[in-house]
Amino acid sequence: MATLWDTVVGHAAAKLSLQRAVEQNHTNHAYLFTGPRAVGKFMVARAFAAALLCPQGGCGTCNICRRVLEGKHPDVTVMKPAGKNIPVDAIRALRMDAFRRPVEADRKVYIIKNAERMWEEGASTLLKVLEEPPGDVVFVLVTDNSGAVLPTIRSRCQEIRFTNIPIEDLKEYLVETRGVTEARADLIARLTGGVLGRALDWCDEPWRLARRDNVVKTARALRRADLNRVLEMAGELHREVRAPAEELAADYQEKKQLLDDGSLDNAVVRRFGKEFDEELKRQQLKEELRGVKEVLSTLSWWYRDILIYKEGGDTALLVNRDLEPEIAEEASALPLNKLLRCIELIEESIRAAEQNVTPQLNIESTLLGLQEALYA
Ligand SMILES: [Zn+2]
Repeated sequence: MATLWDTVVGHAAAKLSLQRAVEQNHTNHAYLFTGPRAVGKFMVARAFAAALLCPQGGCGTCNICRRVLEGKHPDVTVMKPAGKNIPVDAIRALRMDAFRRPVEADRKVYIIKNAERMWEEGASTLLKVLEEPPGDVVFVLVTDNSGAVLPTIRSRCQEIRFTNIPIEDLKEYLVETRGVTEARADLIARLTGGVLGRALDWCDEPWRLARRDNVVKTARALRRADLNRVLEMAGELHREVRAPAEELAADYQEKKQLLDDGSLDNAVVRRFGKEFDEELKRQQLKEELRGVKEVLSTLSWWYRDILIYKEGGDTALLVNRDLEPEIAEEASALPLNKLLRCIELIEESIRAAEQNVTPQLNIESTLLGLQEALYA
């Protein structure tokens, strides 16, 4: 019989260990879910919470399961940073709350997202709860940066490690849940490297695929471009990367307007009321950096594909499988050592993006570097 675990894609080992713990009634007081960003840790945490509260251990269909999955069950609390960090007040409140009896179920679950983002005081408050946890409470700490979680907190938790989802599993999941064609699901699963959250974005936002096409077109055009044209193309790519950030600004403006009118009584908006503009800037930069990294990783996959093809590798290994004729053409024109240099160069740019080098500058220097490496 299908259970709620079947609705969560990938992460077989993590699911099995949590499912067993629930079935055998051997759950710990605290868990630490670690692994790459957007890979599905939170989805598993929520399924785990449902399994803990459901009388059938996670049927996935009863009223309890459904409400937990929809985030509407009073005994499951999800905490996440407000702005940059989880405020110490929120953790103090959680501590008080943890010692109150559950509202409906016989236990309570607290899921803490970005659990590494706490100041020292918050972390030590949390540690106190973890050291003497109330009997009927389970904590699930979720982080993509486990190195930043205090060792004293880590040592109180059972760690569950998450990795990227196998391409085939993700592909099947996208076909079933997003109604995309098999070919497109395959392409998206490869391009996003098995990261669930990103793959879902690619399904919902077709412009990401259009951007991949543009990036590849730009790379191929480097052959015939002069310096001015390279800078022009860098500018075009940068504008594309900026676009979602601009949309964000429009969105904020609209919310702000509503806030001023007093016609929107939204706790979230109000909370950000004071630091509205700062928050917007932060989000925009984040979005822009994400875009740059996506452009760079698209470039990286592109040259890797050419390399694989050139070396006579299995074409099933190609990420941009739909562009095989173009890949073949480039492979016959570009020498091996130059391709390797390109991949190296893009890795450097990705590191630069992680160190917050200005997006426009980064794109420009990458394209100029590629042109020099390939065609100079
Ligand atoms: Zn259920």
